[in-house]
Amino acid sequence: MVRISGSEARRVAGEILRPPISWQAWRAQLVELIDVHGQTVDQAVATFFEAPRSYTAEDLIEISCHGSPVVLRHAIERALAAGARLAEPGEFTLRAFLHGRIDLPQAEAVRDLIEATTLYQARIAAQQAGGSVSRRLAPLKEPLLELIALLEAGIDFAEDDISVAPPEEILRRLVPIIEGIRQLAESYRYGALVREGIAMAIVGRPNVGKSSLFNRLLEQDRAIVTDIPGTTRDLVSETAAIGGIPVKLYDTAGIRDASELVESLGIERSYQAMADADLTLVVVDLSQPLERDDFALIARAQLQGRHLVAGNKCDLLPNRDREGWEFSGIPVSALTCEGIPQLRQKILNDIAPHGAFEQETGCITSLRHEQLLRESATYLEKARGAVESHIPHEMLLLDLYAALRPIDAITGATTADDILNRIFSTFCIGK
Ligand code: GDP
Repeated sequence: MVRISGSEARRVAGEILRPPISWQAWRAQLVELIDVHGQTVDQAVATFFEAPRSYTAEDLIEISCHGSPVVLRHAIERALAAGARLAEPGEFTLRAFLHGRIDLPQAEAVRDLIEATTLYQARIAAQQAGGSVSRRLAPLKEPLLELIALLEAGIDFAEDDISVAPPEEILRRLVPIIEGIRQLAESYRYGALVREGIAMAIVGRPNVGKSSLFNRLLEQDRAIVTDIPGTTRDLVSETAAIGGIPVKLYDTAGIRDASELVESLGIERSYQAMADADLTLVVVDLSQPLERDDFALIARAQLQGRHLVAGNKCDLLPNRDREGWEFSGIPVSALTCEGIPQLRQKILNDIAPHGAFEQETGCITSLRHEQLLRESATYLEKARGAVESHIPHEMLLLDLYAALRPIDAITGATTADDILNRIFSTFCIGK
């Protein structure tokens, strides 16, 4: 699709399309894309969005071609020759923002939406593109503005601060704002998970079924499975969506006391992957007695923090063996898929514990937002301290204004150019 925006959009599109079009707002028309000699290059559909009800809030025309890169390139070249210019990365969204059609968190969410790798990420980004961040901030910003107004009024009209707004009254208003801002900042921990995902290393002795399990979790055949011990010598990584959260899986070389050089390099990397991972999945083979190496690995994973133990090949166990069973990990079979849903659930519980999902409607996913919220909370705390030590309201107001600024920087009320540039430069062209 080629998108032309601006007051000249109709004229430019008119020069490259046939037949001569009488543009009707929000109507799609069948047209022909023509070359300089007037020859038809493609049959296309042109849709006219009239300002201000368009993506950019300007007159906007979208020409949908059949998709050949050659045709699209030609359409762009012809539009350029007719006086258009190429859009900068994110410029369409920037224009929407500059015309006040969307606010900054919405613009940032458009980028997240484009970059989403799981449907769940897309859903959260779509909520934010619909304005969920600003909606969560509004009930915090409003009482802050009211408090500022109250104190300003007190300074203007009263000799004595205390009579206008006693400390208890200020604290009654201030404390819920601080809590709300902190809570929202806190939701980033979950938001970052959704956005960035986590890294999970899969470790275990050779041939316990790491690669098979890796494939099961990915639901596709990425790693090479063999039955010669120690064939996965490199780290293989791939991202699976578990509960909508991107989980980057690292399949590591089988860990055992290595004599061979190449193998030991692989083992070195496995330890490295364990150290770098947010979560380690230790795989053992249930069809055999656990070995010294298994216990050593589990101990090492325990030492490093978050880990799960999966007992693979449980399909090889005759049922009677499972009675009075001592194994405390998750029994699975990469072969029959038994236990795989439970394993996924355990992974999910580990990365997003105690109902983190309930937060999904309000969580923030941008580090920039998180930092601004923390900055705001810091000033609000300062203000709280000032009230408690009866510091004059003029000073208190300085802190409250300082707390307001970062909030404005999120909602875009007072956004400096450099922040705008930072946000929009990370877009891709055509968005
Ligand atoms: P890795 O060296 O730990 O990555 O192990 P692989 O995934 O390459 O598997 C080693 C061998 O065990 C292969 O022959 C697999 O087919 C087999 N295997 C893996 N998982 C299972 C399982 O759950 N049940 C059974 N019966 N065999 C399995």
